[in-house]
Formats: sequence, C-alpha cells, structure tokens
Amino acid sequence: MASRVTAYVALGANLGDAGAAIRQAIEAMKHLPLTQVRQCSSLYKTAPLDTDSAQESQAPGADYLNAVVALETGLPAPLLLAQLQQLEQQAGRERPYRNAPRTLDLDLLLYGSARIDSERLTVPHPRMMQRAFVLVPLAEIAADRVSAEQLSAVAHQGIERLAGVL
Ligand code: ATP
Ligand code: MG
Ligand code: MG
Repeated sequence: MASRVTAYVALGANLGDAGAAIRQAIEAMKHLPLTQVRQCSSLYKTAPLDTDSAQESQAPGADYLNAVVALETGLPAPLLLAQLQQLEQQAGRERPYRNAPRTLDLDLLLYGSARIDSERLTVPHPRMMQRAFVLVPLAEIAADRVSAEQLSAVAHQGIERLAGVL
C-alpha cells in the first residue's frame, strides 16, 4: 500500500460567494482519490494584500475568507496539486494578474516533512511564513508546525476568526 502523508492545504476566496466556495472545496477534497480530510480550521476573514493589477484604479477586491485543512493522502504531491488545481478550475478560477481577486485558491502548504522545489511545485509553500491568513489557521489545527515567533512576525496583519461558521 502506498504510504500516507499528512498534507496541509490553504483555502482562500474573495470573489462571489467565498464562504460557499470554501465549503464546497472542503466537501470536494473529501472525495479525492486516496485522500481523507482529517481537520479543518475555523473560517477567517482578512483584508486583501497588495495585487499586481495593471491599473491603479483597479480595486484590490473584497475581504478574503481563508481556512486551512489537514489531509491524509496517498497521492504523491504533484498529483495532489493537480487535483487541487482541478477544483480551482471547477470553481471558475481565473488568473488575470498576480494576487487578483479569486473564486478559489488552493495552495499546498506542507506535504509531510517533504521539501520539494520543482518548476510547478514548491513545498513548504514559499510565502506561507509571511502570511497571517495562512499561519493563524494552520496553527489552530497544527500547533506543532508553527512557532510562536513565526506567529508574532505576522501579528500586525489583521485577521478575524469567524467562529462556528465552517
Ligand atoms: P501565491 O503562491 O503567492 O499564494 P497564488 O496562490 O495566487 O499566489 P496561483 O496563481 O494559485 O498563485 O499559482 C501559481 C502557480 O504556483 C501554480 O501554477 C503552481 O504550479 C505554482 N505552485 C508552486 N508551488 C505551489 C504550492 N505549494 N501550492 C500551490 N501552487 C504552487
Ligand atoms: Mg495563494
Ligand atoms: Mg495558488
């Protein structure tokens, strides 16, 4: 039997019904091959960070909803990423410019203790340590994967826990 790994996935959305998109994505992850959803963080609300929108007039978009889930999976990391990207597509994800508002973003944060640096996949996710919207929900379900120092480095970023929503 293929070995099973605990992977952490960050979910984010700020276009359309973001809450519904995140709930649907979690339901869909329960049906991925060789994969179980083991834990879900609370839902969090965060203000958008910088975007690369070409026109200054283009607003950064609505507040984000974010969450992190723990999966136990027998899928190799590249196949897991491909499955997550398929779920993004099904949610109508478009990429007009970097950090553009999105219907659904699914980022693979951690895949066991693996370090991966390929053209399509970098794990641990290279920007996760700069982001309260990743570290706060990750710490909620995997306190051993985030240190107090890492959390305090992003403590100035506004993030609100929406209790009892997910
Ligand atoms: P960021 O990565 O800064 O959160 P983003 O999530 O908006 O930005 P995407 O447009 O979703 O970026 O992804 C761009 C590319 O990143 C994808 O095509 C994918 O191949 C690559 N990628 C590399 N490492 C990862 C990872 N750990 N999780 C998800 N995508 C990754
Ligand atoms: Mg992302
Ligand atoms: Mg992404």
